[in-house]
Amino acid sequence: MTTRYRCTACGNLTRFDVVETTSVRAFYHFSVGGELSVEEPEVVARAVESVTCRWCGHGRQVEVLDEA
Ligand SMILES: [Zn+2]
Repeated sequence: MTTRYRCTACGNLTRFDVVETTSVRAFYHFSVGGELSVEEPEVVARAVESVTCRWCGHGRQVEVLDEA
């Protein structure tokens, strides 16, 4: 299921600026020499802070569409 957005002011369905915060857990694998490789990143929390319509420039009339 995907979250979609719609701006009821201009009808925009496709272009939004989304500010979101994600918490990611990952396996940090250091070599003996100290070189880091980050493996198995997994998003453990995700929060959408704001959604702004690219056409209107504000998010006052952006609504969330839940696609069943
Ligand atoms: Zn708009």
